[in-house]
Amino acid sequence: MEAVRGKSVYGGIAIGRVWVFDKGDSTVKRIHIEDTSAEIKRFENAKENAKEQLGALYEKALKEVGEVNAQIFEVHQMMLDDLDYVESIIHMIENQNVNAEYAVAVTGDNFSEMFAAMEDDYMKARAADVKDISNRLVSVLQGDEQGGISGDEPVIIVADDLAPSETVQLDKNKVLAFVTKHGSTNSHTAILARTMNIPALIGVDYPEDIDGKQMVVDGYNGSVYIEPDDATLKKFEDIRNEDRNKQKLLQELKGKDDITKSGRKIKLYANIGTVTDVASVLQNDAAGIGLFRSEFLYLGREDYPSEEEQFQAYKTVAENMAGKKVIIRTLDIGADKKADYFNLEKEENPAMGYRAIRICLTRHDIFKTQLRAIYRAARYGNISIMYPMIISVDEVRQIKKIVKEVKAELDSKQIPYGEVEQGIMIETPAAVMISDLLAKEVEFFSIGTNDLTQYTLAIDRQNPQLDNIYDSHHDAILRMIQMTVDNAHKENCWVGICGELGADTTLTDTFVKMGIDELSVTPSAVLKVREKIRACD
Ligand code: PEP
Ligand code: MG
Repeated sequence: MEAVRGKSVYGGIAIGRVWVFDKGDSTVKRIHIEDTSAEIKRFENAKENAKEQLGALYEKALKEVGEVNAQIFEVHQMMLDDLDYVESIIHMIENQNVNAEYAVAVTGDNFSEMFAAMEDDYMKARAADVKDISNRLVSVLQGDEQGGISGDEPVIIVADDLAPSETVQLDKNKVLAFVTKHGSTNSHTAILARTMNIPALIGVDYPEDIDGKQMVVDGYNGSVYIEPDDATLKKFEDIRNEDRNKQKLLQELKGKDDITKSGRKIKLYANIGTVTDVASVLQNDAAGIGLFRSEFLYLGREDYPSEEEQFQAYKTVAENMAGKKVIIRTLDIGADKKADYFNLEKEENPAMGYRAIRICLTRHDIFKTQLRAIYRAARYGNISIMYPMIISVDEVRQIKKIVKEVKAELDSKQIPYGEVEQGIMIETPAAVMISDLLAKEVEFFSIGTNDLTQYTLAIDRQNPQLDNIYDSHHDAILRMIQMTVDNAHKENCWVGICGELGADTTLTDTFVKMGIDELSVTPSAVLKVREKIRACD
């Protein structure tokens, strides 16, 4: 047994096999194949395997999130048997002598483009589904060669570093833990690990030859144990069982109100990055979504998501939340969240650079596409919108002008849309200092304590060397939260916290006393925050 220490980003215990994340793995190569019948057989087997996976996912989703949300897996199963789709793949293997992965990926892209171009909304929505089933098939096909994450067994992901765009692509049902050499506690990869409710460690100098080995990840203590001995294994199995029992106790809080002893109601919402995260929002019984980091729709791909694709994503989330509030944050790309196709110039200080609303206010095409998608989706649920990285009243007025234009354009084309509550993120010291003025402009504020801490303390949230002094409990931050709440309430503007600090239960009581109206936390933290709220006076 070998033990290595690192730094914990999220607690919990994981026990499983290591899967070393190879950045090159996700690309599909074109390989010349002689024996095309064997390749077709390989494809057929992969298809059956994928259908079995989907069947299991359907059963799981049925139990956890109900029939409406589970149905998508049945639809995917049927799509895998679609004659046109299957014949196109087989035809390509036979006639072009290519490997099955390549034929599936190309056919998936072609079909997806074809669906996306259709008039009918239902057919358009199938574009994302055909991509999804093709990705599943490719990963099954790659897995049968490499024994990788596409196998049935969930794994511990070990990597040098993981970008948010890479993390967001991993199949969340198959990841037990993240262990990386680099990275910082406040990065978006860390936030994703929390959303996934799995232990995560950074700064782990793991040995080279580790792929496939058994590992224990102790997310409480920041240690990993490679090929653990029996006593270590038993010790951590016991802790893991204790955790599960505690989780079971928290489950009893499902269905209960988020209300203090004196009867004050707090809105307890959850943060998501992708459409699939909605399942854990429902599972953890959050009263709404307080932050949908929409930029994740833009990551890990080659080109901008179309209006249609975004519309489908927002609509799906709104529908699945069935009338509960869904706050979509407009594109907050930049800093650690990068997409090459934006062609952004390299900057000295990207965290303080051309990002988020600054991009949207100069590239109206991108912004308007997103706004149109959000407004159209608002007919299918209770959608609010908020804008990131605001520093001035002028920015808010520019946004309002663009929103007005978007609505007028939709009107002129007779495209139906819904009403959308307007809010901004308070995550720069400038926004806090003029929160009295900003509150006159919008209906709500959501305090982004992650960036607010970074900008107030002048500490790069991505720099692991500074993790120990990145202190969201700093008096400066707490005073800023109080100031924001006071200024907002004078103008009847409600205020929430959607940064990671919102889930810090040592501060729940303080936030309630400060007059905070809403807390939006990672889905797995909802029940423990509910427990705290209910214990507040
Ligand atoms: C924040 O800054 O607190 C926030 C919620 O946004 P993000 O972490 O995505 O920057
Ligand atoms: Mg932020």
